[in-house]
Amino acid sequence: MNPLVVLGATGSIGRQTLDVANRLGIEVVGIAGRSAGEALGELADAHPNARVVAADPEAQAADNFRKRFGDRFASGPEALVELGSFEGATVVNGVVGAAGLRASLAALSAGNRLALANKESLVAAGPLILQASAEGGGELLPVDSEHSALFQCLLGEDPDDVLRLVLTASGGPFRGRSRKDLANVTAADALAHPTWNMGPRITVDSATLVNKGLEVIEAHFLFGMTYDKIDVVVHPQSVVHSLVEFVDGSLKAHVGEPDMRVPIQYALTYPRRAVGSPDPFAMAGLTLEFAEPDRAAFPALDLAYAAGREGGTAPAMFNAADEIAVEAFLGGRIGFLDIPAVIESVLDRTEVAPVVDVDGVVAADEEARKAAREIIGSR
Ligand code: NAD
Ligand code: MG
Repeated sequence: MNPLVVLGATGSIGRQTLDVANRLGIEVVGIAGRSAGEALGELADAHPNARVVAADPEAQAADNFRKRFGDRFASGPEALVELGSFEGATVVNGVVGAAGLRASLAALSAGNRLALANKESLVAAGPLILQASAEGGGELLPVDSEHSALFQCLLGEDPDDVLRLVLTASGGPFRGRSRKDLANVTAADALAHPTWNMGPRITVDSATLVNKGLEVIEAHFLFGMTYDKIDVVVHPQSVVHSLVEFVDGSLKAHVGEPDMRVPIQYALTYPRRAVGSPDPFAMAGLTLEFAEPDRAAFPALDLAYAAGREGGTAPAMFNAADEIAVEAFLGGRIGFLDIPAVIESVLDRTEVAPVVDVDGVVAADEEARKAAREIIGSR
């Protein structure tokens, strides 16, 4: 197997990736995190041959790292991009947010396999990601559990035979609550996810259904399906990771434990599989439920569909507005229901442009962040 570069190594996806690499004996040649803190320092000690990148460190911390790790350390967003183009590597992108975009493009342009957890790359710049992959010869494999599931259900099938893709959503911690019940929920409430243990932003995004909205857009680009052919169903047990329905009335579902190490590992070993869980999946006594999402209580889902259908830079702006709104919610500056409201206002007041190049996407992203900050400041 290819040597591994792990971007976002200190995060939830990054650590689980290092776990898988360790278990499978895959060489780790690069690790990156945002800051030059102890979390990254410990990983650098544990992987003495790996290059180490801090994408956005404090100056003093970066100096300390330079002394401690010498030439194998580099800092800044360009160093992250350079690590993404490490020759012959499989690059796992577990960075959170649009900050992961340029590294995804670099990995694909360099002809690397990109195991993509950073869904924001596809949401913000889907056409550019597909173009980089086609031109650079890089291979794009989904890590997001729903998309790994769909990818596997679609293997050997003709896209014309697909009736629809069905993404499952756990529903998050507020499943079953009405809009009125959601007015006063706190960051701590939102951070208590029932089935998945993830970073703070995606956890809040799971509570608002923004995450599912991002995933609808991600699926659109990954599988080339129109939005009419992508549905969402709430499935609280998180055992069915997603489904594909075919024109003949057959459905294929991908089923298994909710454990991100499974889709991470598959993205590394594809087209083969490697030994994973030691125990057979226990299905006796299991009850599976499916329900329609509550689109009134969780309006972000339809906002994402609208942004996806509008296309161009609208999805990038949807994502950027949410990044700022979630930060403000976690800081106690806005309420839970303000998150979709901020996104909606940002999309209302900004102009959408076609996606032409990465600078245009970054400009749209920055414009949306600025608008979101203004809207939050005036609340
Ligand atoms: P996390 O917050 O746990 O980790 C984020 C990582 O990104 C950290 O290593 C952090 O240092 C790094 N990072 C943050 N800002 C950065 C910047 N500006 N430049 C470079 N690196 C930066 O997040 P996570 O839960 O691991 O999620 C990572 C990505 O994977 C997200 O896109 C998320 O949507 C996706 N994802 C996560 C899960 C999950 O189970 N955690 C599942 C599916 C998809
Ligand atoms: Mg997911």
